[in-house]
Amino acid sequence: MSYKKEREIALNAVIAASKLCMKVQKSLISDDSVKKEDKSPVTIADFGAQAIVNHFLTEKFDYPIVGEEDSSFIRSDNGEEIRSRILESIEEFLPEKTEEQILDYIDRGNYRGGAKGRFWTLDPIDGTKGFLRKDQYAVALALIEDGEVVLGVLGCPNLMSELNSSDGNTGCLLIAEKDRGSFIRTFDSENETKIDVSNISDLSKASFCESVESSHSSHNDSERVADLLGVNSDPVRIDSQCKYAVLARGDASIYLRLPTRKDYEEKIWDHAAGSIIVKEAGGEVTDCFGKPLDFSLGTTLKDNTGIIATNGKFHNEVVEVARKVLS
Ligand code: AMP
Ligand code: MG
Repeated sequence: MSYKKEREIALNAVIAASKLCMKVQKSLISDDSVKKEDKSPVTIADFGAQAIVNHFLTEKFDYPIVGEEDSSFIRSDNGEEIRSRILESIEEFLPEKTEEQILDYIDRGNYRGGAKGRFWTLDPIDGTKGFLRKDQYAVALALIEDGEVVLGVLGCPNLMSELNSSDGNTGCLLIAEKDRGSFIRTFDSENETKIDVSNISDLSKASFCESVESSHSSHNDSERVADLLGVNSDPVRIDSQCKYAVLARGDASIYLRLPTRKDYEEKIWDHAAGSIIVKEAGGEVTDCFGKPLDFSLGTTLKDNTGIIATNGKFHNEVVEVARKVLS
């Protein structure tokens, strides 16, 4: 099965949405807005990116979409100012669309997922906290078929082409299609390069990444896991599914997302694109207990607990140690 057309459209959609996000993030001129906890720039980019992606997808396909946002807030009286700022900022991306059409595009993301058929899942800005810090975030889009992720695209506007490179070039796109490998490219060139996870098999040489936000993943538990495994390096903390990107291209060998509370259910749009990109690059992705991620249960991974992704060389060891630490 090939998803050639879906791949092409998904990529174009993510590129356009990422460009909107870059534009809005640039307009965050001072730290001020962050200090004042003004969330409006991220709200504008978030809804705008969802409108753009949904526009691209629904022009060509009739698969339903599970998106993170819905338009009820921006349709309300309180959302009036934000609504007009969204319309203004996406004008150049969706010219000649009426307000009602834009709101409709946003609402196309209201599917609830499930075990049958094809649907898209979209996180228009994954890592909103990173976005506000002018740090890492991702536009994450995936196609799910009969409960399995078959295509994933991540737009990572602020990710350097190589983690420790100093050439200042930022912005990459990662693309994976089932059984066809994972690829990386920049925003400026259509050339795609195949990527593979690292081949490090010695845990003392492995590096691991985790969320910047300790409320999303327990830093204390990951430190214990890393210690027990004999991982020597400090964690690389990155917002959003850029962590999957970094793992897929071999810059880190482990991604730990250890639960901070019992009742949290991971959202499918936070993991669908990233997980296929890591798997197709040769890595392994499960929950903290070694269970495959189950994308067939609606909008959340309700049968899973946290995430462990690795380059596949020591996955079971990491799972065993995480199990000990969590119990
Ligand atoms: P990250 O940038 O990896 O920290 O992940 C950002 C994502 O974390 C957001 O898209 C949220 O959906 C998700 N999130 C929010 N609260 C939690 C939580 N308590 N545990 C795990 N993930 C969370
Ligand atoms: Mg997210």
